[in-house]
Amino acid sequence: MADAITAPPYRIIPIIPALKPGSMAGSIPYIANEKMQEAIGFPGKLADNWQETHDAVIAKMGELLSKYRSLKVYLDACVHCGACSDKCHYFIGTQDPKNMPVARQDLMRSIYRRYFTLPGKLFPKLVGARDLTREVLDEWYSYYNQCSECRRCSVFCPYGIDTAEITMAAKEILDSVGYGQKYSNEIIGKVHKIGNNLGLPGPALENTLEGLEEDVKEDTGIDVRFPLDVKGAEVLLITPSADFFAEPHIDSLIGYAKVFHASGVSWTLSSMASEAGNFGMFIGNYEQLRKIALRVREAALELGVKRIVVGECGHAWRVAYSFWNTLIGVGAGANDPYAIQLQNQLDLRYKQPMHICEFTWDLIQRGGLSFDKEANDKHIITFHDSCNVARASRMGDLPGGQFEIPRNIIKTVANNFVEMRDNTTREKTFCCGGGGGLLTDELLDLRVKGALPRMEALQQVTDSHGVNFMATICAICKAQFTKVLPIYGFDRRVVGGVHQLVSNAIKLGDK
Ligand code: SF4
Ligand code: SF4
Repeated sequence: MADAITAPPYRIIPIIPALKPGSMAGSIPYIANEKMQEAIGFPGKLADNWQETHDAVIAKMGELLSKYRSLKVYLDACVHCGACSDKCHYFIGTQDPKNMPVARQDLMRSIYRRYFTLPGKLFPKLVGARDLTREVLDEWYSYYNQCSECRRCSVFCPYGIDTAEITMAAKEILDSVGYGQKYSNEIIGKVHKIGNNLGLPGPALENTLEGLEEDVKEDTGIDVRFPLDVKGAEVLLITPSADFFAEPHIDSLIGYAKVFHASGVSWTLSSMASEAGNFGMFIGNYEQLRKIALRVREAALELGVKRIVVGECGHAWRVAYSFWNTLIGVGAGANDPYAIQLQNQLDLRYKQPMHICEFTWDLIQRGGLSFDKEANDKHIITFHDSCNVARASRMGDLPGGQFEIPRNIIKTVANNFVEMRDNTTREKTFCCGGGGGLLTDELLDLRVKGALPRMEALQQVTDSHGVNFMATICAICKAQFTKVLPIYGFDRRVVGGVHQLVSNAIKLGDK
């Protein structure tokens, strides 16, 4: 399939591209089957009778509008100024006008106006309202699955309208009527059944970690441990399951282990919570978001840890940073008995949760780690800000810490660092093209096209400064770039983790 897909040409000047209406109408991810749907509590399929589906969609929309005031505000507030229209990587790459953020919102706004506003009920045509039909629902399925919920458009909207929230609501409605997306829902089922997105069972995880200990011993001569289910450890590391065997993810896992080893802080992974990812957020479903997060609390209580540290995963950090407090009691907010038990157990002298970059940077600042920077001299490095970290979370004590801390680590462990152009980094970063539950092969054409703005910026620093390594702190970005880099003519090994660079340079002898 990858052979048939080609990269779009780079734009000479990054201006609004010419429109290709309907060019992505056929981009449709596989639909979840009945078993997958029902396993996570959704109807198996659409009702045979359209009226029944129609009424269920409107009822669910009404429920979400009353539950989430932001959704109603976003649907009401847009003045169609167009400021967001050319800010979405999928629009830039596909040129399909329905991938303009404002047009994506209008897919739902037109239905909202028809059924929930007086002018839309009385004069639908005058206010851009339309009836909900099966064609509209199919259009939702296609185009809401062409939004990675990256929030870039919201940075440019004068009203702060967040298209990602509208996309999440659309996915929630689609799931609730039996029209779910296979990739996300199958993964959520695996987390509940096996413990992680990749379906890696406990014994296989144990073998993998033992193998890693042997590999690191062979490389360094030092016994660096990768502990699993160790009761009484200081730190519980929650990391994406891709870190356990995918390339280049595994190199960052080795980096975390070396940091723990060099610092002398005891740590453990958990077979019960062997996944940081939480696709409940991608499908906009609060119950799944909470249920997946609860595994972390269960593991933390069982192991008696004092701190929870999160590995390199963009959306996982967003969920941990923004929602774990109220969902499971890591931080203040939840007040059920288990949340209170956890709050009493965790050591509140430390940030809870803490990102692995905060953990490493804190040690660096206190002189707890030392490095041989020359070990990274073969790399000329740039940094790709991952959207969920950049626009939906923070690190450290200062605003912008989520931008500076990873960069500070890179500059501490390597000599050659170059920024990509500034309208493609920090809060204006472009999504890798594979986030939001779109990292699936049947959407590869969309993913390649959506990667265009990032590839253009990377090409620019490759040409001007010889950049040959793009560091990032997201498992999805790593997987997406590994796949699309060769289609743009780069080596797939150009992408890697920040802790991969840490791993190359850290001196294990010094504590
Ligand atoms: S993919 Fe990102 S930029 Fe595009 S519409 Fe969705 S949230 Fe906005
Ligand atoms: S920038 Fe905001 S107000 Fe303007 S069209 Fe986009 S969503 Fe609407």
